Amino acid sequence: LNTKNEKEKGVNVQVILRCRPLSEEEQNSGMLAVITCNEMRREVVAIQNIGSKQSDRTFVFDKVFGQASQQTDIFNQSISPIVDEVLEGFSCTVFAYGQTGTGKTYTMEGGKKAKNGEFPCDAGVIPQSVRKIFESLEAQCADYMMKVSFLELYNEEITDLLAPDESKSSDEKSKKPLTLMEDGKGGVFVRGLEEEIVCSASEIYMILDKGSAKRRTAETLLNKQSSRSHSIFCITIHIKEVTSEGEELVKVGKLNLVDLAGSENILRSGAREGRAREAGEINKSLLTLGRVINALAEHTGHIPYRESKLTRLLRDSLGGKSKTCIIATISPSIQCLEETMSTLDYAHRAK
Ligand code: ADP
Ligand code: MG
Repeated sequence: LNTKNEKEKGVNVQVILRCRPLSEEEQNSGMLAVITCNEMRREVVAIQNIGSKQSDRTFVFDKVFGQASQQTDIFNQSISPIVDEVLEGFSCTVFAYGQTGTGKTYTMEGGKKAKNGEFPCDAGVIPQSVRKIFESLEAQCADYMMKVSFLELYNEEITDLLAPDESKSSDEKSKKPLTLMEDGKGGVFVRGLEEEIVCSASEIYMILDKGSAKRRTAETLLNKQSSRSHSIFCITIHIKEVTSEGEELVKVGKLNLVDLAGSENILRSGAREGRAREAGEINKSLLTLGRVINALAEHTGHIPYRESKLTRLLRDSLGGKSKTCIIATISPSIQCLEETMSTLDYAHRAK
């Protein structure tokens, strides 16, 4: 893909597709794979059997990563240029979108957890971005200040994944949801959200590990479906620069790394939104995100940011000069085909 061309057209939303390999279990049970990826042509082909007829559907994306793709391929080809923008003082967002079990968390965080702040093996987008940010800042001998926050959005309620545990009694009432506030300048902030100042990459790996462990514990304690929560890991960097005239200025870059709720049933639930909402079945933030991305990609006038917490939170990092990358994740298995088609359709419409 020609990035120069992209810049000229002002296209700031990139949609890439990643297909995970069949798991060992799936392979052992003889599960059929019905997805083929052609990375060169940036195409994904889904084979559907309708009655006795076989039909193929082909989708084209900005980039396609097949079953053999590695974490570093995704980072080097699609995320590293976004990190460069952040270091230039822009706000950018990377989303992982897809059915539960297709590799969103694997892609964002990685396969194994880091130990003692080491760079995790099989590191995903978050640790790889962090490493690159520190390497660049150190190479430039930059004067900088960096903060991270990590929150979870479940049922339109915000929880701080970095808040210190108030009590060990796992008293759920002490975990009050945080409020999203208007800052009076057209922006928003989350009242009381922890922002940890960090000075090294390994500190961030530990923070990521702590927060994501907390996300998993909360899931088990509340017996809630993990698949329905979104998490946002946010890195803000203030870089001080001195111009040739000796003037001091501060560039502020922001990187939001978002592991979205499972997309299963999203299209179906969208159709019966009214009743489903009362039943708490649908994910308003996920539906609104789709509409916002569509509106941005189509350059239509009204962008419905205000309609969900997720889009309100990310407003300053979606649209305008910000770069957005959506990583749509799918499984190759025949068992997931219906949801895969829905993910391909959603992701394709975002282009
Ligand atoms: P999600 O977050 O979308 O629910 P996970 O990231 O938890 O899915 O992935 C489900 C399982 O599949 C995990 O065991 C994960 O390690 C594995 N997995 C996902 N993507 C890949 C991949 N590209 N290569 C190898 N294993 C993967
Ligand atoms: Mg996950």
